[in-house]
Amino acid sequence: MRGSTKLTTRKAFIAGNWKMNTDSHTSVKLAQDVVSMSRDVAGSAVDVAVCPPFVYLQQGAKALSSSRVALGAQDVYFEQKGAFTGEISAGMLKDAGCTYVICGHSERRHVIGEGDELVNKKVHAAILGGLLPILCVGELLEERKANKTTEVVTRQMKKGLAGLSPEKMSAVTIAYEPVWAIGTGLTATPQQAQEVHALIRKLLAEVFGRKIAGEIRIQYGGSVKPDNAGELMAEEDVDGLLVGGASLKADDFTAIVKAAVS
Ligand code: PEP
Repeated sequence: MRGSTKLTTRKAFIAGNWKMNTDSHTSVKLAQDVVSMSRDVAGSAVDVAVCPPFVYLQQGAKALSSSRVALGAQDVYFEQKGAFTGEISAGMLKDAGCTYVICGHSERRHVIGEGDELVNKKVHAAILGGLLPILCVGELLEERKANKTTEVVTRQMKKGLAGLSPEKMSAVTIAYEPVWAIGTGLTATPQQAQEVHALIRKLLAEVFGRKIAGEIRIQYGGSVKPDNAGELMAEEDVDGLLVGGASLKADDFTAIVKAAVS
């Protein structure tokens, strides 16, 4: 339900975050199924990306090679190379066929312990390495209950994007993902999402100017399913969706992709 009343010219962008799921067989099958089921809209009416685990990126790249579904990674390290055991650089991700990379996902912030400064370095490194970062921001349940959503999102935005020029900013997508809605089955209402998306666009305008702010895509993420994707996408400042659980089923993910443009 991409509402006919919606004024934006921003192209919808739907990304699937597979997290630590799939194996060498199911990752290829999932990528192939997404390609065949979204062929009529992917890349033309809507940008589509899937983000497999690191070890399946190259197989994913092969499965997506003759399609317009893009490949993304779930994380990146900020150094270019060297003695950083276990880490993966932007150059390596580019070499593996990635276009996008998720930076500052809430599971990395709250499970692994990444802070805003580290996330900011990752955003810079991604752009320097020729990738398009998806910067995730969002408040915890206790922060929402304490009326701290604006404060938290403003801090994550300002620190996460510190030092970027307006030109570099045009490579970035923002994903608003309230932590209380991720993997919980609780979704923000379209109005709750729009409220924070409007705040994010206002913050972007203050720092980068109205033109850039009007061009940046802001995704919503948090228990998106085929039956709520349309109403979320109908909101003026919801330009796309970052999908976790539902991206592991090709038919659900494709239904979400199609709901974004119908
Ligand atoms: C996510 O991991 O970015 C996410 C939004 O997960 P889910 O859709 O499962 O809530």
